Amino acid sequence: MLAMNRSLNTSTHIPRAALALLLLLTLTHQNLTSSYAAESANSSVNTKQMQAIESYMDFTENPCNNFYGYACGKWAQEHQTEYYTEVSGLIDHKVNKRLIDYFQDYQLQGDPQVGNETINDKIYLYYRTCKRTKNLHIQRYLQLVRPSAYVDWPLMSEISKANATWPAKRFNWLFTQAKLRRYGFKGALFEHIVLPRQEESNVYIIDLDKPEMIKKESSGHLLKVLALLTKAGVPNMRAFVVAKQLQNFEKQLRTLSLTTDESEAEVLTLHELQVRMPGIPWQLYLQLVLGYTLSLDFEVQINNWQYFVALDELVKQTQPSLIANYIMYKFLYYLIADGVNDFTKIECMWDVRTKMDLGVNFLYKREFYGDEASHEAEVNHLFGLLKGAFLTKLRKNHMQLDEEQLNYLSEKLNRMRINIGNLPADVSEHFIDKHYADVHMTTNDYHKNHMQLLKLRASKEDELLTARPVPAEQYYYIGDGDTARSCTPYYLFRQNLVVIPFAFLQTPIFHHNMHDILKMGSFGFVLTHEIMHGFDGNGIQFDMFGNPRAVGDSIAENEHFESSLKCLQQTETESVDERFADFLGLSVAYDTLFGVNSSLNARQPSFTAIPAKRLFFLSFAQFFCGNLKGKFTDHDSDDIRLQLSLMNFEPFAEAYDCKIGDAMHGQEKCTLYR
Ligand SMILES: [Zn+2]
Repeated sequence: MLAMNRSLNTSTHIPRAALALLLLLTLTHQNLTSSYAAESANSSVNTKQMQAIESYMDFTENPCNNFYGYACGKWAQEHQTEYYTEVSGLIDHKVNKRLIDYFQDYQLQGDPQVGNETINDKIYLYYRTCKRTKNLHIQRYLQLVRPSAYVDWPLMSEISKANATWPAKRFNWLFTQAKLRRYGFKGALFEHIVLPRQEESNVYIIDLDKPEMIKKESSGHLLKVLALLTKAGVPNMRAFVVAKQLQNFEKQLRTLSLTTDESEAEVLTLHELQVRMPGIPWQLYLQLVLGYTLSLDFEVQINNWQYFVALDELVKQTQPSLIANYIMYKFLYYLIADGVNDFTKIECMWDVRTKMDLGVNFLYKREFYGDEASHEAEVNHLFGLLKGAFLTKLRKNHMQLDEEQLNYLSEKLNRMRINIGNLPADVSEHFIDKHYADVHMTTNDYHKNHMQLLKLRASKEDELLTARPVPAEQYYYIGDGDTARSCTPYYLFRQNLVVIPFAFLQTPIFHHNMHDILKMGSFGFVLTHEIMHGFDGNGIQFDMFGNPRAVGDSIAENEHFESSLKCLQQTETESVDERFADFLGLSVAYDTLFGVNSSLNARQPSFTAIPAKRLFFLSFAQFFCGNLKGKFTDHDSDDIRLQLSLMNFEPFAEAYDCKIGDAMHGQEKCTLYR
């Protein structure tokens, strides 16, 4: 699982003549081994891939004017489905279907009554309970978690006992937030998360900040709050009054957070917090969250502590029941966003993959991943080659960096690792069982099961606060939401690590027998895109261990680097780092395959008449092909991503004989790291 990057480490010290000899040897070796027999053994993968690529092409489009239309024009016609809109969705769908089939006639191995269920039993029970649920019953969540052992939610007690007075004196907003934090709720009145420390990426700290809020109130938002309250069983008229109150309160909170001066995050001890904010019992709050005693020198990181002082004042002036209602509404929002809308098999499988990612990854590895050794050898090999090609680019030093800056970049590249499957290196069934030991699924209460899994994730996050730093290969990411279930790779800049989900290592993106040209256009590009995030405007600030370093900032301030970023923004984007990774990813993947030192097979394949370089760009397009009906977040839409990357890439224009002035042949091309 560790990226053993031999090619990079050795080639940097080999003299030129020796390198040429080595190159000659590898080429000869390759010529001998890539016999006709070997090619035909792989032919079914390549033939299938070619059939797919050709079926998406629209030959009425001119590749020099609209390459997306040319390469992907018939994709939507070939994939008429409601389940996905592009290729990563297709892979997700494959995974969902595989897992659904796996659990179709599943027999429990253990007995939930006895408490000896296996991890697969737990996954199955969670899935089955989800699938048997008709509707989300949000009142159920409020029954499962109350503000405290003795106090109910004011609106819930109104519903059950119309004339009872709510015991406001027994309610403590901070302790209620502590209780909900144990279910991973970041907080209503402030935000509490666990982060790697600013200066030390393998040591974790609690970070306290202003809460996330909608930027502006609107009638649409009011209606949403109203709908939520009525769904929780609050009568219409009453819900309207409360929704208005909540909106007003949120407005006050928003004002607080705006008027507070921004300041750098500070690390403060509990003692220092006590001095600055005597009104807020932080020690008790944190003890309730973590479940153990804390001394006064326990440290947290806090942003805008003045906000908290002002918050304390606001809370004192506000009816406790309104605060309780506000926390309740925010908590419900969190649960609904995290839960399932339609309790169909597919939706439930999504949910399983999101909430039980570690267990599902382990199951996937054993049941569906296939030839593990070949996959990993090939991925590690390519990772090494890609790093080598980027290193060559860096060494040319077109940005005229000094030696310290260059060393910083090459060390970072050299130390970058991959984790296939987001599991620790020595993962075992015992490890997974231990992870889920405290989870015992009910057979009929989805809501309770959901809460158990939220609690588990939060407790694993909290464990990071006291855990000793683990060796890099034992690290795995405790993700949530989209990251937890992602089937596409991602880069963690605080770990200098690329995570490649098992599911990504399958067709149409990857197969270890795929021809190098096809493989590098799709998988090679995506992997390079992730590597390049370590060197974009954000990633560059962090060193090989994921810690901020001044030398990183000095590179970001380099005039060539700055003008590259400006060039990328010629057409407006909110995701300049993504463009950066696309542009540079494409060029480094291309160099790795077609560069003079390439050890990959870039020769014309026998299974197609499409010239090698054109084939590479068609394969590159595969990652972006779709029906464009999906939502694009954090990135430009797929067609724009494809077009912009290619417009800026000279070899594309050469391969397709595009002329200056053609839409796909940008006159001024952005150059990054060169
Ligand atoms: Zn990206």
